[in-house]
Amino acid sequence: MPFAKLGLTSALLDAVKELGYREPTPIQVQAIPLMLDGKDVIGSAQTGTGKTAAFGLPILQLMGKHSPSPRALILEPTRELALQTDESLRRLAQATNLRVAVVYGGVGYQKQRDAFRDGVDVIVATPGRLLDHLRQHALKLDKVQHLVLDEADRMLDMGFLPDVRRIIDHCPRRRQTALFSATIPPEIETLIRWAMFEPVTVEIGQRRMPAETVKHVLYPVAASQKSQLLLALLEGIHWDSAIIFCRTRRGADKVARVLKQHDHKAAVIHSDRSQKERQQALEGFRAGRYEVLVATDIAARGLDIADVTHVINYDVPEHPEDYVHRIGRTGRAQATGDALTIMMTEDAPRVDAIEKFIKKRIERVKLEGFTYEYALALDEGRRNSLPTGRVRGGPVGKGGYFAAPARRKRR
Ligand code: AMP
Repeated sequence: MPFAKLGLTSALLDAVKELGYREPTPIQVQAIPLMLDGKDVIGSAQTGTGKTAAFGLPILQLMGKHSPSPRALILEPTRELALQTDESLRRLAQATNLRVAVVYGGVGYQKQRDAFRDGVDVIVATPGRLLDHLRQHALKLDKVQHLVLDEADRMLDMGFLPDVRRIIDHCPRRRQTALFSATIPPEIETLIRWAMFEPVTVEIGQRRMPAETVKHVLYPVAASQKSQLLLALLEGIHWDSAIIFCRTRRGADKVARVLKQHDHKAAVIHSDRSQKERQQALEGFRAGRYEVLVATDIAARGLDIADVTHVINYDVPEHPEDYVHRIGRTGRAQATGDALTIMMTEDAPRVDAIEKFIKKRIERVKLEGFTYEYALALDEGRRNSLPTGRVRGGPVGKGGYFAAPARRKRR
């Protein structure tokens, strides 16, 4: 299916061509005609599927020409996502005279107010700062005709749903609403019933499945060897750029420090870093100045980073949904990528939950050439009859958690 068949104007088709998109992604094929038709759309698709253009192109087309009041509002859970969506929409809008403005916290108000005063058509915003502007009467949303709730499950996780509802109350009831979410928990179902009118659901593959092009593997290891294994993985596998996920901010800082000590060009993003530091890290990573980006879930959710060849979970995520989101960083727009997860014995219940969630067993492997301090169980049934002591690298074969501690390596 070529782009030309989706009903887009020639100006937008030119913009798409300019961006080098040869054919629409599955979500674009499904969502663009529906949205052009004015329908409310639920896209259960993760980032990396091309969803920004899936809602951006039809909205820009329906808006037509510039007018002084904002007519489209895109809500994003994080500043990074807001910036990224703003940039994508600006590129798509190049062929039009529509103006896009981005609104997020942690920076001054005046520049954002100036943009409203000059007249903007599309506002991309995080909920907190947008509400501030609304409370200060710096902005009105009474002309909004298109509302997009992007990464809705992330908004929920971050406690933004009450703010989102307050914002929606400022918008006219007659409007088009699109909602994107990798998962649809009950709170989002409630929001959908409240905020949307006869929505059509567009599902890309199975709702919960991470990108099908991603190859998943688990590396069981003892807690004491996690960072050693990480370094060995970076030495032992073929990769170009990697995002390493940690559960905590302190953990992320520690991993970044270890990587730097071993001459890896690493940047770190988490919520304790200033907006400027996060931007600098992201831009550096995108430009290839850093080969590794160490991140926490909140900081990295939904980031559009092209060409990430590997996602490495240094910590198994607490929630299975986060696994899907993390993995969404690789295998983007149908490229292939690898997802490696380092696991410890105590992570077994979390791994079980992930496997149930994605309805797939993840292969356990050993890193060739890595000297494991503890024995690895080759499969769960043989846990008690394992040889103990040092185990040299080699494939685990199918199955097998990390076994109960064997004998410590003598130093
Ligand atoms: P998104 O899911 O919107 O964050 O998009 C993920 C990445 O895919 C972005 O880098 C887009 O520029 C890219 N992309 C979106 N649509 C297409 C397409 N039809 N062909 C190739 N790349 C695309």
